[in-house]
Formats: sequence, C-alpha cells, structure tokens
Amino acid sequence: MHETAAVTRDEALALDAADPLAGFREAFALPQGVIYLDGNSLGPPPLAVHERLAEVSRREWGEGLVRSWNTADWIGAPTRVGDKIARLIGAAPGEVTVADSTTVNLFKLAAGACSLRPGRTTILSEAGNFPTDLYAVQGLGALLDGRVRLKTVAPDELIGAIDEDTAAVVLTQVHYKTSRRWDLAAVTDAAHAKDALMLWDLCHSVGAVAVDLNGARADLAVGCSYKYLNGGPGAPAFLFVAARHQAAIRSPLTGWMGHAEPFAFEDGYRPAAGIRGQVTGTPPILGLAALEAGVDLQLQADPALVEAKGLALAELFIAEALARAGDADLALTGPRDAAARGLHVSFAHPQGYAVVQAMMARGVVGDFRAPDIARFGFSPLFLSYAQVWDAAETLAQVLAGRAWDRPQFQRRAAVT
Ligand SMILES: *Cc1c(COP(=O)(O)O)cnc(C)c1O
Repeated sequence: MHETAAVTRDEALALDAADPLAGFREAFALPQGVIYLDGNSLGPPPLAVHERLAEVSRREWGEGLVRSWNTADWIGAPTRVGDKIARLIGAAPGEVTVADSTTVNLFKLAAGACSLRPGRTTILSEAGNFPTDLYAVQGLGALLDGRVRLKTVAPDELIGAIDEDTAAVVLTQVHYKTSRRWDLAAVTDAAHAKDALMLWDLCHSVGAVAVDLNGARADLAVGCSYKYLNGGPGAPAFLFVAARHQAAIRSPLTGWMGHAEPFAFEDGYRPAAGIRGQVTGTPPILGLAALEAGVDLQLQADPALVEAKGLALAELFIAEALARAGDADLALTGPRDAAARGLHVSFAHPQGYAVVQAMMARGVVGDFRAPDIARFGFSPLFLSYAQVWDAAETLAQVLAGRAWDRPQFQRRAAVT
C-alpha cells in the first residue's frame, strides 16, 4: 500500500512554526532524545504536576495533616475536579465526579442503567470493545444471576441490534485499537429511539477529540484520566450522569462517601443527592492533585485546535509511513479518513511487537496491542510535526533494514 510522501521535513518545520499549540510543549519536560507516541496510554507529567505533588505532600499532607480534608478542601476534590472535566466533555457542573477506576465506574453505571430500565435483559456492546468494558458487564450479569446479559455484535450491526430489550448500549467512542470513532449524537439517538440508555466510554476521547455529551443527549459516561489528560499512572477515573437521571439512578457500590451525610455515621445507607451518590470510598488525594494539574493545563487549550492538530499529526504519520515504509506487510487498521478516527493510529504487521521494540531502541516510544498491532498516539500538546515526521522516518528505517529481526526485540515484557 503506497502513497506519495505528504510533506518534506522542512514543511513539517513550517507547520510547527505556525502551530497555535506549540507553546504547550514547554509545560512538559520529556527526556531528551525521546519522541513520545504513547500519550494515549500514559500521558507524561506536566511540570505543574511535580510542583503540585510536592506542595500537597509537604504542606497539605505534611503540615496540615488530617485538617487538610477541610482546610485544603480535599473533601471537595472529586466534584471540584469533576466540574473541570465536565468543561472538557460538554457536561454541566454537577454532572461529573472523579472516582475509582474506569472499570469500577463502568460497572456502577451499567448497573445503574439496568435499574433505570427494569425488565430489559441486555446490555449491548461491540465485539472487540476494550476488554475491561466487556468483563465489567459480564461480571454484572453474573451478579444478577443472568437476569441481564452482555450481548456483543460486530460494529456494523450495532445500530440494528438495539431493541426493546436493550437496557443500555455501552460503547467506547474511539476504539482503543483501530481508532475508529463513533458518532456520539447519532448512536445516542439510535439508543433513545428504542428507549435504551447510552453509556459512553471516553477513555480515548477526553483531552483528544471534541466531545459534547449534553449536545448529544448522552445519558451516562466514564473515562480515564491517565491518557490524554496526563493525570499520572493509575490516576482516578471520572464518570458522568446526566442531570435528568441523577434522582433515580443508584450506585450498586454504596460506600460512606456516597452517603447523604458521611459524617453522621449512620448504620443505614441514604444516597447523597446528585453526582456525589456515585462516589464510593475515600478519594485518592495524591492522584487527584496530579490529575487536577493535568486538567488545568488541558483547559487552557482550545478543544477544536487540540482535535485538529492531533488529527493532522496522525494524518502526517500515516501518509509518511505508507509512502516511505516500503513494506508490504505494513497495513493501516481502522479508517483512513481523519473524520472517522481518533488521535492514535494502528498498523498491523506480523512482527508488530518487535517493530515497536526496535523503534523504542531508537527513541520512538509507541506500544503494541495483540495480536499484531503497532500503535502510535499523537498527543497534540507536546508533540511537534517535525517529531512525527522523524518518527515515520524511524519506522521506515526499522522496516527497510529489518532492524526488528533481533532476539532482544522479540522477548515480550509483562506490559506491552
Ligand atoms: C484505558 C481504558 C480503560 C482502562 O480502565 P482502567 O479501569 O483504568 O484500567 C478502560 N476502557 C477503555 C476503552 C480504555 O481505553
């Protein structure tokens, strides 16, 4: 699959000179000699995160001690940071909170959706969705003794498979492997046409592509914050419940922090009103502090520019890779059309794992997704067009010289 080269390196440099987001690179300190194409898996730390973590551990935790729950408003952090994330995803204040992990939040909201649609027995998703999303719903089905079960269908059959038995449709807006992007409003409309609820997973959308949950009339959403939001490894996730559902939806994980009055220490559970009813236990304050610094940085960037630059970087990489890689084994998976894609790009190659390892040895960090996918993410805040051009050149060299064909590049680490 050959195309002609899209731009020269000088043209890439000219794109950088005209890039309105170029100034954001200074907000990060990536190691010299590294081109980081894995911000879609673990975003790098903004410099502000280092400062904020030091401040929280020394002053708020070290000096304030337990008093900081009040004096530093640790107790308000989940909803405070949630309100900031709401601005990134087209939600209103009070519709988003930070809590738990994406997996746990998906479980909570899928259970909540079932309770809002009693009698309906299926949760519909696409085959090949991110495994944890499918596993969480499978676990919910087992807990409910099979009264609700997960049904997966091929993506092109999904809309047709929504019916009067569907409690909720659970989809990842941007697919973790192929990068194919669902139309948020169109799929939500299709779910509503059968009175099913729509639960979006925004893990590869938030901080990457423009999202308007309320514009799409979405019901529920979850997402993680350690990818494009640069919240740090294992940073707490977020969840969204549209205001119109908040009075009726119940979390199946009723913990004290979701209680109406946690410090009344009552024996009986009474849910907090609003989004706080979806909080489970004590919020992870260090993780929240790092995340808040990442979100504050993201809020300074125009989401339309972020999406446009990320798509342009991805487009540059695809065009250059296909034009210059000269390897018949390299195949783009997922859409060629930028409008149908997120900000990462996947190529299938029989030696995908070793190709990624050989690129890493040359300073270009991507990742691998079984069985044969070399995946590259194009975070718009810290990458330049010239870096992406250079990364495509590295891919071309690795393939042309069969640089992947070394035993050390074949050994699989625990995390790929
Ligand atoms: C990254 C990702 C997750 C991660 O879930 P965790 O609970 O944070 O491990 C879930 N779903 C999708 C689609 C993802 O891309």
